[in-house]
Amino acid sequence: MQSHLPDGQTETEEADSKRFHSLKEFHPAGRGFWNDVSEADWNDWKWQLKHRITTLEKLQRFLPTLTPEEFEGTILANHKLALAITPYFFNLIEAGDENCPIRRQVVPRVEETYTAPWEMSDPCGEDSHSPVPGLVHRYPDRVLFLVTDRCAAYCRYCTRSRMVSNATGYDFHSDFDRQIEYVSRHPEIRDVLLSGGDPLLLNDDKLEFLLSRLRAIPHVEFLRLGTRIPIFLPQRVTPALCAMLRRYHPLFISIHSNHPRELTSEVRDALGRLADAGVPLGNQTVLLRHVNDDLVVMRALVQKLLMCRVKPYYIYQCDLISGSAHLRSSVRKGLEIMENMRGHTTGYAVPQYVIDAPGGGGKVPINPDYVLSRNKNRVIIRNFEGRIFEYPEAADGTPLTAPPREIAEPELV
Ligand code: SF4
Repeated sequence: MQSHLPDGQTETEEADSKRFHSLKEFHPAGRGFWNDVSEADWNDWKWQLKHRITTLEKLQRFLPTLTPEEFEGTILANHKLALAITPYFFNLIEAGDENCPIRRQVVPRVEETYTAPWEMSDPCGEDSHSPVPGLVHRYPDRVLFLVTDRCAAYCRYCTRSRMVSNATGYDFHSDFDRQIEYVSRHPEIRDVLLSGGDPLLLNDDKLEFLLSRLRAIPHVEFLRLGTRIPIFLPQRVTPALCAMLRRYHPLFISIHSNHPRELTSEVRDALGRLADAGVPLGNQTVLLRHVNDDLVVMRALVQKLLMCRVKPYYIYQCDLISGSAHLRSSVRKGLEIMENMRGHTTGYAVPQYVIDAPGGGGKVPINPDYVLSRNKNRVIIRNFEGRIFEYPEAADGTPLTAPPREIAEPELV
């Protein structure tokens, strides 16, 4: 039985509160094994890329606590999705903790080689919606423009693991001329999302070449970049990059952060530079088992994102990508987290929980049930505290003057 503390909190609540406040603190990633590297090299994104951990030997040297599952997974990784971790991001791993949420995201495990019957190599059906190589046209007014198959580090649950890193021999080749030509021939396309792989792996000149050509198409209203580089490699967010990006507004960036420990002081500063360049920032999170399927972690993440000037945008239910079962949390858990966020914290901090419908159905919003019943005269709703209200409507759609009223539950039957 839990003992009660003087202020009425249980011990569990007190521990959760301490954990929450500690997760919300900003810390630098530190230098770890790279203490003797010069400041200039450490802050050089190309140095970071060149010194990534990409082999079993290097991983064992830096992470001597590798488990048998990780050891075996790393041997097999280069046939499925390559291993790559930047030195900066590696420093966020707690070597003594096998279940470290950062480690689980980037260190391969043998479970990645098990494929359940319902898992797929292309769960979002992108290949079947690709009119030209490197372009996915699945929604009516927007396209996904793939620029590369490489990333700064590889997420073990990646929905595009069939192509990124080229471990499976997918042999991705973008064809920028044909991709741009397709966009210019389709006036219904008003929104272009550059992704990959990670578009911020391109150097500034190459990226500017693409952005300027897309911006020159009159019907393209809106450009977006989807990138995890601010999290894996904040050194890439240089003042020169930010100065270039601000020439192509309206341009939004979606980052991808899954755990509040990823939001270091370096990441906060990098995101601040992007925000100062006028780039609206949103975050996409993948709900991952033993990484962030925990209300304390998720609340700390969304609140910390707002402190970094980033709007939490989506929480994705993990796609049915082959070999991801060990990282997949349940929809029940996702709904429980959403239930405890909506109304309990700032509305801006609450993302939309979605399932990308398996096989290419697009994003479907998943919400706790707030509408309890509805007929032609009224809607019965409940709020975040479980209180129930009636919202009256006229059957013919004309306005009513009666205010909503709280009703007692028996009336519902
Ligand atoms: S950064 Fe994005 S594309 Fe690259 S491995 Fe991670 S989820 Fe996949």
